[in-house]
Amino acid sequence: MSRAAFEARFPDEAACGRHLVERRWPEGFVCPHCRNRRGWRLRRPRPTFQCAGCRKQTSVTAGTVMHRSHLPLRTWLFAAHIVTSHSNGISALQLQAQLGLGSYETAWFLLHRLRRAMVDPDRRLLQDLVEIDETELPYRRKHDPLDHGRGRGRSAVGKMRLAGAVELSPAGEPRRIRLASIADFSAPTLTAFVDGAAAPGAKVITDGWRGYADLPRHEHVPKTIGEMAAHVVMKAVHRVFANLKRWALGTFHGFRRAHLRRYLDEFVFRWNRRRHTRAAFDSLLGLATRLTPATYRDVVDQRV
Ligand SMILES: [Zn+2]
Repeated sequence: MSRAAFEARFPDEAACGRHLVERRWPEGFVCPHCRNRRGWRLRRPRPTFQCAGCRKQTSVTAGTVMHRSHLPLRTWLFAAHIVTSHSNGISALQLQAQLGLGSYETAWFLLHRLRRAMVDPDRRLLQDLVEIDETELPYRRKHDPLDHGRGRGRSAVGKMRLAGAVELSPAGEPRRIRLASIADFSAPTLTAFVDGAAAPGAKVITDGWRGYADLPRHEHVPKTIGEMAAHVVMKAVHRVFANLKRWALGTFHGFRRAHLRRYLDEFVFRWNRRRHTRAAFDSLLGLATRLTPATYRDVVDQRV
């Protein structure tokens, strides 16, 4: 959706309110407290319903990222639109300029809230055919100067370890991905990652590293690399790592360790929705159904 298309579709608060009501309650109001389907709309600027059963009032923004916010709905929708339409992500300063906001703090708050919604709402495990590999990523500490690739200050740059999984279509095209920061490349760590990323019974392709030797719940297809470069064999997962590294440098001038989890969440969110900007828009606003079973993150990613 272009900016002009956004303006046409959401000209004012009322249009934004209608969109949220349609998305949140496509089959009519359902009380979140007692599941009653009968209620009436109150005369409020922001769409609000009163349940005919328990009498509780529910605003369309209750429980979403816009909960208790005094910012106009249109500001929220426009911010979500900007964040989802910039494939490389956006800084709070850029967002402030695009929204024409007077305050940097407001832009920062909006971005922070929207990013929190990027903590993967899609917890379905990867299916069928899954490429899995691990890599290292350089990171900067808080006050490290930028290296700019000149090799100076190398000692100030640390490395974090990362595992990645890519679901492949039958034609070998990458579909959804999972990324996690991991403590080490040991067999228990990598097995936990595979278990948390790929559905039981999925066919798992790895480079044959001994860390993947024991995968009892998956069909393991180790690719013995030999003379061939690893990126030829594990094409999809290496493409994801390469994109991640480029994004880290281009958008953030290198990742900082303290924010690694947030970067990974955002990257996975953007990648998994790269062809579904409308779904991305809705999930950023907190309108998508959220499922939160335990995942590999709870197992593997507690240190970040
Ligand atoms: Zn109710």
